[in-house]
Amino acid sequence: MNQNTILAIMEKYSSDCMIGNLHDDETTICCIGNWHSIPSYVERYIDRHFENVIFGFRDEYTTCSDCGQIVKTSPDCHGWLPDYWMGDGELQCETCARKESFVGYMEDIVNDHNKANTMMSHEELETAGFEIYNCGYETGFHPHQTDSPEKVLQELQQENPDLDYLFSITGAGQFDVNWCVYCRKSA
Ligand SMILES: [Zn+2]
Repeated sequence: MNQNTILAIMEKYSSDCMIGNLHDDETTICCIGNWHSIPSYVERYIDRHFENVIFGFRDEYTTCSDCGQIVKTSPDCHGWLPDYWMGDGELQCETCARKESFVGYMEDIVNDHNKANTMMSHEELETAGFEIYNCGYETGFHPHQTDSPEKVLQELQQENPDLDYLFSITGAGQFDVNWCVYCRKSA
C-alpha cells in the first residue's frame, strides 16, 4: 500500500485531504483530513501498515509552497514555535526559507516589534551580521514578565538609531515567551 492508495481511501470520506512527509522529518507520514468523518477502521488500517504516522486535521497543517511537504501551522504543545515563514503570502517551510529566502526573512522581521525570529539559530543570525544586544526578556502572565517588544524597540531606537534590531524568541512556555534582541549596523 502506498501513500496514494491511502489518500484515495481517505478521500472517499473527507474532502480536502493531504498525505505526505513532514517537512523536517522524512520518516513521518502525515495523513491530513477530517477525521470526524473518516471511519476509524481507516485510521487503524493506516496505523498498522505504516510507522510514524500523524493523523491531523486540515486546519492544523498546510504545505510548503516550495517543496510541497507538510508543515504544521497550529501549536501542539506549550513550547511550540512556528518553523515556517509567511513571506509574500506564500508559506515556506524552515528548510526552504533558509535556502531560498534567508535574506528576505531577516529583512521581513528586522525593526518590527510584531515579528520575531523562531527559525534561525544564533550562528545563522551572526552570519547575517547580527549580534546579541540584550537577552533575558520575558513576556507573560507572571508578575515580573512585563517586557514589551514595542517599548523595548522604541527605547533602543532612541538609544542607538544607527542600529537595526531583531527580536528572536528563545523559548515559549504555557504562559510566557523568552526572547533576545539582536542588532547590527544599519545598511
Ligand atoms: Zn519547503
